[in-house]
Amino acid sequence: MIAYVGIGANLGDARANVLDAIERLRALPGARLLAASSLYRSAPIDSGGDDYVNAVAALDTELAPQALLEALQGIEQAHGRERPYRNAPRTLDLDLLLYGERSIATATLTVPHPRMHERAFVLAPLLEIAPDLAIPGLGPAAGFVPQVAGQFITRTD
Ligand code: ADP
Ligand code: MG
Repeated sequence: MIAYVGIGANLGDARANVLDAIERLRALPGARLLAASSLYRSAPIDSGGDDYVNAVAALDTELAPQALLEALQGIEQAHGRERPYRNAPRTLDLDLLLYGERSIATATLTVPHPRMHERAFVLAPLLEIAPDLAIPGLGPAAGFVPQVAGQFITRTD
């Protein structure tokens, strides 16, 4: 199954944290890293603190969705992520954006990620590595770009 993972960080050395997350995804048992986007810089939307560094990775994985989510949370925890309050600044945030064409709604996992199409920091790196991608139930990801045009984001490499 092809899965897309959104990566974000805005605490500590955010760029190093995102690059390390990509390396940990590359090393993840049961998954093969197909592609990783450039790094992007975006202004925080609902949280405070510094700008975010963002990227998106594509994985070919045998892991079931919940197992993949737990693997992503393990990588977050390796970066000492604390969650004092919702949308707090974070050393590392990994979101499962898409899992093939599946729609999933459990207590712990909603896929497609419900806010991915509203966020420039997801759409820009995602479309870099998968320009023709469709979001199940919503249609082509590229179609949402005009709606996020007001959100500041810049590619950093
Ligand atoms: P956000 O990423 O929305 O800023 P958090 O990372 O703090 O917020 O939220 C993590 C929680 O969201 C986890 O407990 C997880 O079970 C749940 N969750 C639901 N769907 C997803 C998804 N597609 N990817 C990652 N976490 C998800
Ligand atoms: Mg998250």
